[in-house]
Amino acid sequence: MRFVSTRGQTPPLGFSDAVATGLAPDGGLYLPETLPQFSAADLARFEPLPYAELCFEFLKLFATDIEPSVLRAIIAKSYTTFSDPRIAPIIKLDERTSVLELFHGPTLAFKDFALQLLGNLYEHQCATRGQTINVLGATSGDTGSAAIHGLLGKPGTAIFILYPDGRTSPLQERQMACTGADNVYALAIDGSFDDAQAALKDLFADQDFRTRHRLSAVNSINLARVLAQCVYYLYAYLRLPAATRAETEFVVPTGNFGNVLAGWTLQKMGVPIHSFKVATNQNDILYRLFTTGDYRVSAVAPSLAPSMDIQVSSNFERFLYLSIGRDSAKVREVMETFKKTGGYKFENFDRDTFSASRCSDAQIPSIIKDVYQKYGYVVDPHTACAFADLSKDRPSLVLATASPAKFPDTIISAIGVEPKDPSLEALKQRPLKKHLLKADAGAIRAFIDANAV
Ligand SMILES: *Cc1c(COP(=O)(O)O)cnc(C)c1O
Repeated sequence: MRFVSTRGQTPPLGFSDAVATGLAPDGGLYLPETLPQFSAADLARFEPLPYAELCFEFLKLFATDIEPSVLRAIIAKSYTTFSDPRIAPIIKLDERTSVLELFHGPTLAFKDFALQLLGNLYEHQCATRGQTINVLGATSGDTGSAAIHGLLGKPGTAIFILYPDGRTSPLQERQMACTGADNVYALAIDGSFDDAQAALKDLFADQDFRTRHRLSAVNSINLARVLAQCVYYLYAYLRLPAATRAETEFVVPTGNFGNVLAGWTLQKMGVPIHSFKVATNQNDILYRLFTTGDYRVSAVAPSLAPSMDIQVSSNFERFLYLSIGRDSAKVREVMETFKKTGGYKFENFDRDTFSASRCSDAQIPSIIKDVYQKYGYVVDPHTACAFADLSKDRPSLVLATASPAKFPDTIISAIGVEPKDPSLEALKQRPLKKHLLKADAGAIRAFIDANAV
């Protein structure tokens, strides 16, 4: 299988190269040249498989440049770090409402599904190519810790994560700075998240520095992330009761469109998921897109669901490309218009498949409280957004993107109960090892020069 850029101006790559490259040289995002199609017989064959085996059956169609036995081992290793043997359990709240729990990975958020796998793919690449790799990223929360836990202790790799000192939650900081691993560098920047990002941009623009350290970015546009996320949609679909499976709407809290894009891509491979509800917080660019067709940037207002505080969705371009029949000239034109005017009027997307809801910040605590009172179940602030407007016509499967234990302050103020998780309790006992740096590309460059592998 080969992977093409949405902008069509760069040669297709095999799986391992597309994963290593991240953003395509023409500025586009990689997608499979063709989408495999699953028949009813394939789905019946997949139904009894445990998570890691299902993941192997799925990924082997894409990662055709990795020896199957090696791929199987990489995948098996990626999901043994999950604390629940079902990996992605479905919890039934009532006849019409279930929750798909995607937070049993090491950092208690759904990003572990992709980043545990990506870490093992990087490790495999280092070993087979005899090269080291240095991963650099900036985070305001979940992505940084999930990336760190994907690479933690892996030979041939080092990971440097920049974050604004004092502005992530204390637990998120502990997940990054208390790992005890020698190849992990939590870099607390004296400045804001935007300062950290600006420094990161400078460093990636420095071609010499970038090549010298074989720098790789962690961000939501990596092809492996989308493919890894398709698997839990498939797994969940196969575990829904046969009678309601084809009727169920998947409700996805989203900011960057990364999560729901994976579900929709799977549907395009012939898995008959009925529909998706795109659930945003107050930063509602995607809500506006799916209700009016108008895709338009506006300012970001920090919310209680911070991992969805996103101004533009980087995965939108994949959606656009697949929606308009893989016309890369049109994609280039739309992205150019969007860059110039900050907006684009989308005419022909799949309106039967998508609906949308938005959730104001004031609603989040009251939804957490309602769900708790009605079902005795605690949702985190991101998952709460999904409950803002569930369908009245059909069953809903809500994707729970993070554990409530990651957001104790919001949960305590909503229901007066402190959510706990043993892994977070253990972190509170461990020494914090962070490196304080000025928000300045020069200082960060010097640190990486001194510590890169
Ligand atoms: C990253 C994140 C999201 C948003 O995911 P997208 O890929 O932007 O759709 C939602 N919830 C949590 C907890 C996250 O960490």
